[in-house]
Amino acid sequence: MDTIVLKFGGSSVASNDRLQTVASKIIKLYEEKNNIVVVVSAQGKMTDSLIKQAEELSLKPDKREMDVLLSVGEQITTAKLAILLNYLGYEAISLTGWQAGIHTNSDNQKAKIKNIDLTRINKELEKGKIVIVAGFQGIDENNNITTLGRGGSDTTAVALAAELKAKQCYIYSDVDGIYTADPNKVDNTRKLKNISYEEMHELSSEGAKVLHDRCVEIGEKYDVPIITESTFNNNPGTKITHKLECSGVKSIVKKDVSRISVIGYGMTSKDEILEKILKIVNKNSLEIFNIDISKTKISIVFKEIVTDEILEELHNELIQ
Ligand code: ASP
Ligand code: MG
Repeated sequence: MDTIVLKFGGSSVASNDRLQTVASKIIKLYEEKNNIVVVVSAQGKMTDSLIKQAEELSLKPDKREMDVLLSVGEQITTAKLAILLNYLGYEAISLTGWQAGIHTNSDNQKAKIKNIDLTRINKELEKGKIVIVAGFQGIDENNNITTLGRGGSDTTAVALAAELKAKQCYIYSDVDGIYTADPNKVDNTRKLKNISYEEMHELSSEGAKVLHDRCVEIGEKYDVPIITESTFNNNPGTKITHKLECSGVKSIVKKDVSRISVIGYGMTSKDEILEKILKIVNKNSLEIFNIDISKTKISIVFKEIVTDEILEELHNELIQ
């Protein structure tokens, strides 16, 4: 029997209706005879709202207490989803981070997972249950609740997948994959079938907010294929795995207002890419402050604000 980890983000679990959609995705994979471990985020904007409420009480709330507060968000989702799955006739159990054996260091609000004790999860899987784990949280050596930093549920999911030696880790959200540029800023973007961990890491650090960066590192280290898909359609998503051959330009991303990065493993050997970029730079009379070139990326910092139109021009020129 294969084990599969499924992670659902905040917007995917934001309402009872959406939980129904999530439940049907889970049930389909469970019926295909897989062991299922689900990781969930807090519902909708719950984490933001809890932070706001705490900041209304104190300008600098205690970090330990913030972790106690924020961890509640994910726990609500686990219980609701388990209640729903049980109602639908499927045995499910919700587990907090500590019940799921997720041990972290004591760095509250940005804790790192040290090890995972799978005893409880395995026990529940053996009983045939669907196991639902609260993302983003763990426990330190003194039994204090910790959280992993904003967006940390992705990391919970991939770390669990690594420890469980899961066949794959699906990250479900409201976007169905990784695109050649942000579809909200650029027309004619294309969804990528594959991207390497290294390219994905560059994309995240250059501003693409698709995955928590640490989950990509863990995926690479422990060889967990990560698949990003949409909760709301059945389109094939993007698979993040080890490097393929030199890939050419994969994606273009803008960070802050004046930094643009072109990402793709092995593409910098091609002078023509740099030439094409410089052509557009000159045409638009842009001034370059700094260029940074590596095996996977060309990053340019401009002296002025770069508009989305320029991003689009670069995208049209560099991505066929
Ligand atoms: N709920 C947390 C956040 O909003 C963690 C997560 O969703 O991954 O940052
Ligand atoms: Mg997220």
